[in-house]
Amino acid sequence: MKLLDEIEVFLLDLDGTVYLGGTPIGPMPATLKRLRSMGKRLVFLTNNSSKTEEEYREKLTRMGLFGAGDLVYTSAMATISYLKERYAGAKVYLVATDAVREEFRRGGIALSDDGPDVCVLAYDTTLTFAKIKRLDFFLRQGKPFLATHPDDVCPTPYGAMPDVGSFLAMFERSSGRTASVIGKPYSYMGEAISRLTGTKKGAICMVGDRMHTDIRFANNCGMRSVLVLSGETTRETVGNFPDRPDLILDDFNQIFGD
Ligand SMILES: [Mg+2]
Repeated sequence: MKLLDEIEVFLLDLDGTVYLGGTPIGPMPATLKRLRSMGKRLVFLTNNSSKTEEEYREKLTRMGLFGAGDLVYTSAMATISYLKERYAGAKVYLVATDAVREEFRRGGIALSDDGPDVCVLAYDTTLTFAKIKRLDFFLRQGKPFLATHPDDVCPTPYGAMPDVGSFLAMFERSSGRTASVIGKPYSYMGEAISRLTGTKKGAICMVGDRMHTDIRFANNCGMRSVLVLSGETTRETVGNFPDRPDLILDDFNQIFGD
């Protein structure tokens, strides 16, 4: 298959693409192993900023999906990189889980709950009213406002739950402020991955199940794309979106075409 020959790096979305609710999709461990043996590099790419790189690596390793040479890249990691580039030395009010706050600190970001220069909203599954009130207060002062990703909802085995996009809508109502968003479908994360892997965007392929984040992201970045029908999108709903993937597969195990 031509696409497979041209691609050096596959960016793999997680839920709906390599696993579904914690179970690998079909023979995914063997599929990924075969790609590695062909010299393809694999980067697990997620907008979900509620967990750290390490937590995702452990989760993927438990499922037999993570292999030598693979990388995990989250929207939180992209946000750390963005802060260092655009707001070097700034103090950050970060709304995030404790583990992700620690990941930002380890990444060299100075956190401040009192006098920040910049505010960042990650997917904080431990969000409290005290944190909401404090962020809203800083936003009203006009502090720059970043969000790790725009997803309105996050899939769970029990149905969708509110994600960062829903909280952004709340802050827009309360403070009148909108955030600059880092994760998919915006192109910053694509630039970061291209630099991290030393690979031209035309030799990178995004594989995902969501048209408005994964496939839009690939098109925004000038990357190739594979839509998999193992998650959110069906053959019937593909046409509802303006973007077109290079390839549509029932699931990613079909990538070899045999
Ligand atoms: Mg997905």
